Amino acid sequence: MTETDVLVIGAGPSGTTAAALLNSKGFNVTIVEKTTFPRFVIGESLLPRCMDILQEAGLLDAVKSAGFQEKYGAKFIKGDRSCDFDFSEQYTQGWKWTWQVPRADFDKVLADKVETFGVEIHYNAAVEKVNFEPDGVITTVVSDNGTEQVKSKYIIDSSGYGRVLPRLLDLDAPSNLPPRASIFTHIKDDNRPENIDGNRIQIVVLKQDTWAWIIPFSNGNTSVGIVGDLSGIDKDKSNEENLRNYIKSNELLDERFGNSTFIFEPRIISAYSSSVKKFYGDRFVLTGNSTEFLDPVFSSGVTFALESGLLAAKLIARELQGENVDWENEYVKHIQQGVDTFRSYVNGWYDGTLQTIFFSDVLKQNIKEQICSVLAGYVWDETNPYVKKHDTVLVALAKVIQYNLKPQ
Ligand code: FAD
Repeated sequence: MTETDVLVIGAGPSGTTAAALLNSKGFNVTIVEKTTFPRFVIGESLLPRCMDILQEAGLLDAVKSAGFQEKYGAKFIKGDRSCDFDFSEQYTQGWKWTWQVPRADFDKVLADKVETFGVEIHYNAAVEKVNFEPDGVITTVVSDNGTEQVKSKYIIDSSGYGRVLPRLLDLDAPSNLPPRASIFTHIKDDNRPENIDGNRIQIVVLKQDTWAWIIPFSNGNTSVGIVGDLSGIDKDKSNEENLRNYIKSNELLDERFGNSTFIFEPRIISAYSSSVKKFYGDRFVLTGNSTEFLDPVFSSGVTFALESGLLAAKLIARELQGENVDWENEYVKHIQQGVDTFRSYVNGWYDGTLQTIFFSDVLKQNIKEQICSVLAGYVWDETNPYVKKHDTVLVALAKVIQYNLKPQ
């Protein structure tokens, strides 16, 4: 049986960030990854908050060298109306830019970098069973070499959509968001506009609860996906035909992508929102998507994966050094506060509240800057009223706008 201080399940951004931090504190860390890298995963638009975390984990320079498409804001479009958020016009003092990344490449950059730090990654090796014994956590790993057991002091579940510990320990809980779906592919973007829209992320409203993302990459390809109520999908048609029909239904999408080549057969993910009964327990913690995932609309998934990976690793380091850690207050409360803030924005997007705000002519610059900081991922800055009062302030502002009064 091999031994390590901390075993991490999954080499996605959450797992590699956690591993990097623990390694920097002198712990022996092993990652077990089910696939071989590079591997495809969706979730390609980052938020500026990611930059703080990548920097703290010692991973920022490696990503900088990879030449990904820089992202300076986001444009929301509904018919002939649009709303531009520019990360340089923010309430919170933070990063003013980030990246749009093909995740196969981004995740490999992070994984390769943590290996250079001394973290061992076992690819093509899947965690199948975890036993919490008095003298250590015994994890059963299955790979081409057969079945092996690894003993560790702690285990971090960063298995994303694999949801290893939620499944094994019966921790899954239903999400309180309605089940939505997405169909997406990468497109050879031969028709990319020469102007600023060519390289920036655009979110295009198709109808109130259905929208499209356009995420251009520096490699000339662009990710295009449709999200929301996909009852329009015809099961007798191929995924490519279905996605082409959505593209045809919108002038902006059709003009840019109507005749373009798809890089792969579009994939569909249904009912992607998920939750858990608890985030931690005796010698284990869940990070990233194996905790809670809301919705792609504000690109918050990777930000939470990094934030939770880094924080969990710091707390484990303290616990292994003999300190008492208040996981409920120091971990769950922190992550939940960010998730709850984004949940208000996700709900507000789909019920029309945010669309009323974004596409109005009377949105004051100072309020826009406060909302912009939330969209940049700075959802822990409670001096921002659009963070602090996230559950009431959006509805109140939309009402003011609807009644054509000046916003506060
Ligand atoms: P992952 O990146 O999923 O990594 C988990 C790793 O664990 C994988 O490599 C997997 O192979 C491995 N694994 C799984 N099971 C096992 C096992 N048994 N043993 C060993 N290893 C295992 N987020 C954004 O930030 N921006 C976006 O634009 C965005 N768009 C999205 C669009 C859609 C349609 C959806 C559904 C999600 C989107 N997301 C987006 C969310 C994003 O995909 C996730 O939040 C993010 O990938 C989570 O990272 P992670 O590190 O937790 O998990």
